[in-house]
Amino acid sequence: MAPEIRELDAETRDRIAAGEVVERPASVVKELVENALDADASRVDVTVEAGGKDRIVVADDGVGMSETDARAAVKEHTTSKLRDVSDLDTIGTLGFRGEALHAIGSVARLRLRTKPRDGTRGTELVVEGGDVVDCGPVGCPEGTTVEVTALFENVPARRKYLKTDTTEFDHVQQVVAGYALAAPDVAVRLDHDGRETFATPGDGDRQSAVLEVYGREVAASMVSVEQSWDDGPVAGVAGLVSHPETNRAGRDYMTTLVNGRYVTASAVREAIVEAYGRQLAADRYPFAVIDIDLPPGGVDVNVHPRKLEVLFSDEKTVRERVENAVESALLDAGLLRSRAPRG
Ligand code: ADP
Ligand code: MG
Repeated sequence: MAPEIRELDAETRDRIAAGEVVERPASVVKELVENALDADASRVDVTVEAGGKDRIVVADDGVGMSETDARAAVKEHTTSKLRDVSDLDTIGTLGFRGEALHAIGSVARLRLRTKPRDGTRGTELVVEGGDVVDCGPVGCPEGTTVEVTALFENVPARRKYLKTDTTEFDHVQQVVAGYALAAPDVAVRLDHDGRETFATPGDGDRQSAVLEVYGREVAASMVSVEQSWDDGPVAGVAGLVSHPETNRAGRDYMTTLVNGRYVTASAVREAIVEAYGRQLAADRYPFAVIDIDLPPGGVDVNVHPRKLEVLFSDEKTVRERVENAVESALLDAGLLRSRAPRG
């Protein structure tokens, strides 16, 4: 007998959809930090417990929300950042799908405290299992604090799949470090189980963000990359790369940005490594923070719900120019013997 085809109820649909956005504690942290940065924060404090499995708190001093906005924000497909599909080409904010808060609230307990700048009162709102279970006035500073607990308690299959605290925290740290390096004008702090992991000063200087995130030795080895072009699909490549001898076994220490937005761009990482040529042993990778200045339309960020990997419309030129810019920086600093032969 053929199985009956039934429509899923709303709650089940929500949990399945939420799984696309929220995979692990680091994905929660990513969405909340992006929201804080989109809210024009000058300070973002991230506190996690047990790698984020027990508790995640992201506090910002951004624009905040009124009670009406806060109620709307936790609903599905609600965003203040995008009006219609034509905005997608010029989107300047990190978020735009309007699904993160809703998704997090479907698979965790979410407590939001927020007060608009110059607003008269704050609001506290609690979401459980996708429903607002509490909402009312509260005394709180301007800005927004989101606390996430009981992550995946209603999705045991996902909860079980989470790794050790250390591994989950590694992912959290990677995400927060990426945004801290991408936004040196914002003071970003990360705390794990009551200990400060790093805190950037937010003074606008990328070098000082690197110092706090990676420490003195790495910061001292960085050389600056700066190149621009008048024509073609890449207007500029700028940032910092490490001395070839300051390297690590993983690719995780190469932070790639497009127009200041922190993204995963394998093509850019590969091009950075190419520039070092034989100065790097196999399976060793440098530290780098590289921002690529692209005209609108040069990149598609809308490829994946978790916005993991960007697609470049002219990847070949992006690779060439990144490699070229990094190679020139290393040559100028006397860290390369000669330009790598081009194939
Ligand atoms: P998106 O970021 O894609 O718009 P979210 O679900 O992450 O979707 O957030 C929904 C809306 O809630 C945002 O568009 C914004 O208006 C508001 N919001 C979320 N987080 C914050 C915050 N930290 N400060 C101010 N407003 C926020
Ligand atoms: Mg968002």
